[in-house]
Amino acid sequence: MNILLTGGLGFIGSHAATVLAEQGHQIILVDNLCNSQIEVLSHLGQIIGKQPIFYEADVRNTNLLNSIFQKHSIDLVIHFAGLKSVAESVTNPLKYYDNNVGGSISLLEAMQGAKVNKLIFSSSATVYGVPQYLPYDESHPTVPMNTYGKTKLQVEEILRDLSHADPDWSIVCLRYFNPVGAHESGLIGEHPRGMPNNLMPYVCQVASGKLPHLNIFGDDYETKDGTGERDYIHVMDLAEGHVAALNFVNQHPGFHAINLGTGVSYSVYDLIGAFEQAANSTIVRKVQPRRSGDLAIYYAKADKAKNLLGWQAKRDLQVMCKSGWNFHKQKS
Ligand code: NAD
Ligand code: UDP
Repeated sequence: MNILLTGGLGFIGSHAATVLAEQGHQIILVDNLCNSQIEVLSHLGQIIGKQPIFYEADVRNTNLLNSIFQKHSIDLVIHFAGLKSVAESVTNPLKYYDNNVGGSISLLEAMQGAKVNKLIFSSSATVYGVPQYLPYDESHPTVPMNTYGKTKLQVEEILRDLSHADPDWSIVCLRYFNPVGAHESGLIGEHPRGMPNNLMPYVCQVASGKLPHLNIFGDDYETKDGTGERDYIHVMDLAEGHVAALNFVNQHPGFHAINLGTGVSYSVYDLIGAFEQAANSTIVRKVQPRRSGDLAIYYAKADKAKNLLGWQAKRDLQVMCKSGWNFHKQKS
């Protein structure tokens, strides 16, 4: 198939690109490089064995997308492009609505114009909000606590309406939990610009001496050891989840929201312990007050992905830490 990946040079998009190319699909990448580096393209080329087709383009530019759809006979789109900082979304909501919601509408218009009606959308577990029960299943109420989560939910709602209006659309919204780790080659991985916000990239920078210590945001939660618990998932498992979703979306019109998580939660201390073993180093840490807006614990009910897509995560926390550290060492 000819598959268009928006945000294809980003963390998750680039990993998905490797798996899709390995499966023999033709991949066409679109990215405006607002949160990725052009070097990722040549690294992808090294992994895949040939340079993927790439357009430096913004998904809000519908005319440019129209010309890309005209040039390539696209069968399906995976829409990764989006901004993902929760904190920035709260201080700059217009930027997030414009990019995440506006960008999605622009893409959908271009798809409609080109009569492409198969879509996989990068959604997030943040759409659920404060857990009313755990694990979150896909029927859990969706009450996002921040602007970022609201943009994801709004796009999901637009997609649901679109599939009601035109039953020929096949749409899968994948609600990712906490992707970490990197491709086994160490050539691509998570490369945040500036100070990392997320736990794993922060830990990597402490291990390599770039940052003096890890701040642990709260050790007084009602969790197994007082620190926050999350459902960390290896980015390659997540990438493989997209291949499974692709096979599903080809055969199942309609709108489907599906969790991609492992179904297991790990605490901050669990992750640090696994990382210290993987990197054979000690992570200096300081306990700080809770980070505003953080939830104590959440994790996925992963059964729907297993039943509908025939997919489940296989890589454990050790592999996540080892591969994440391997990437970080190679790029430093
Ligand atoms: P990322 O920032 O590494 O990748 C996103 C890519 O999209 C970047 O390369 C960026 O340059 C590009 N982009 C952003 N806006 C664009 C635009 N208007 N036009 C063209 N390109 C644009 O992020 P990621 O971690 O790979 O996340 C991919 C998707 O998954 C995002 O939509 C994100 O919200 C979602 N998601 C991520 C996580 C996570 O923790 N990483 C969790 C849940 C959902
Ligand atoms: N966390 C932490 N120190 C950091 C970054 C994160 O203690 O420097 C904690 C955070 O409070 C949460 C967990 O690690 O309990 C995962 O945080 P992350 O930002 O990676 O993911 P999210 O909060 O978006 O699920």
